[in-house]
Amino acid sequence: MTDALPLTFPPDRRAALDRLAEFVPRAGRDYAARRNYDLPQQGHAGVSRLSPYIRHRMLSETEVLQAVLGRFSPATAEKFVQEVYWRSYWKGWLELRPGVWDQYRQGVRSGQDRLATEAGLRADWEAACRGETGIDCFDAWARELTATGYLHNHARMWFASIWIFTLRLPWELGADLFLRQLLDGDPASNTLGWRWVAGIQTPGKTYVARADNIARYTEGRFDPRGQLAGRADPVDSPPVPARGPAPTGDTPDPERRTGWLLTEEDQLAGFPFLPGAEPPAPVCVLNCTGRRSPLETSPPVTAFAAGALEDTLDRHAARLGPAQHVAARTGWVEQVVDWARDGGVGQLVTPYAPVGPAADAMKELAPALDAAGVPFVRVLRPHDAACWPHATHGFFRFKEKIPGFLAALKGLRAA
Ligand SMILES: Cc1cc2nc3c(=O)[nH]c(=O)nc-3n(C[C@H](O)[C@H](O)[C@H](O)COP(=O)(O)OP(=O)(O)OC[C@H]3O[C@@H](n4cnc5c(N)ncnc54)[C@H](O)[C@@H]3O)c2cc1C
Repeated sequence: MTDALPLTFPPDRRAALDRLAEFVPRAGRDYAARRNYDLPQQGHAGVSRLSPYIRHRMLSETEVLQAVLGRFSPATAEKFVQEVYWRSYWKGWLELRPGVWDQYRQGVRSGQDRLATEAGLRADWEAACRGETGIDCFDAWARELTATGYLHNHARMWFASIWIFTLRLPWELGADLFLRQLLDGDPASNTLGWRWVAGIQTPGKTYVARADNIARYTEGRFDPRGQLAGRADPVDSPPVPARGPAPTGDTPDPERRTGWLLTEEDQLAGFPFLPGAEPPAPVCVLNCTGRRSPLETSPPVTAFAAGALEDTLDRHAARLGPAQHVAARTGWVEQVVDWARDGGVGQLVTPYAPVGPAADAMKELAPALDAAGVPFVRVLRPHDAACWPHATHGFFRFKEKIPGFLAALKGLRAA
């Protein structure tokens, strides 16, 4: 039995590094044995609780893997290493098929239309969001999600399954609830995780939450016998658009004066910004977290991302000029372009934003920068460049590449 761990997530890199250091000794056999247990009363001690930090790149996958493999062999840490690569796989999969994100966004809009027109649906949806369905386990997870901004992976699977097959609510509205409320809310892991439960991602194969499995992995905290749907027919979905090429990213021009564009996507600002970034470099901050959903993103999620961005500015204060904060609402594109022009920015450099709200914003910004004659340089991290092209099929095939990825890790900078 491990002592209870705190379930708070301070939005700064120091806290992220402390959590990583605290977790590393448990990343080997302990993780393999305990990772499936949903034990909030023990602060989810069986898992790392690193996801809000990795999702916002306050920690890089590279440094997490290097820390764990500094302590354990790849064989002993196999389960944990694989989980870290699940995130990379999902991100790569969506990057090769960005149309699936657009389909999901359309599905959220359709789901909201249905709430307005289908008798009883809104009341059922509200009860599910508030944790008032009468299914104890589901209601507890809904409340835990709201209170902490975190849910254990197994709880996410059970919750999604009950949402779709027992409560018979549109899956996109469940994914939207997660994206608005999870501190680690991630377009790829979340959308594709819900699609997987619904039987869309692996066509025909649904994930059915079973009462005995819940009782076992909550150590008897819940036992929803007789309350859950036994059948789970796959949900209909439009066909997956044809796969495109993996992005390659751009290289900054060392001769041009660099201005930085920071978003919530990547807080390891160091590496992309070195060339041409004579201090104090102008920096513009754009937080797209509020664009995760047509509904309001939860205040703790917005505050986490804002705190993470402030921490990045503090950590790099010696090399930065005053930050220009731009709110991602009407007129923001013009504001960024004016700021770049007035500040003599010769190129606007930003870490490559993977498919999601920040990438959607970049698509709006790129033509305006082009028209203003300011090159827009999106730098891809080596980890993403190595992994994403291999997300062509299922995880099984991707997984075979992990030994090669790990061999390359030795030569990679952590951030
Ligand atoms: C329906 C559903 C929705 C999800 N939504 C999100 C989301 O919005 N954001 C998000 O980050 N993850 C999501 N996940 C994946 C997973 O549940 C979380 O990454 C994990 O629970 C985070 O907790 P941890 O850091 O304590 O995990 P650990 O077990 O300690 O794992 C370590 C790291 O590996 C990665 N990881 C672990 N499991 C997965 C997984 N199944 N898929 C992808 N990466 C994984 C994460 O980076 C995590 O921090 C979702 C899963 C499901 C089934």
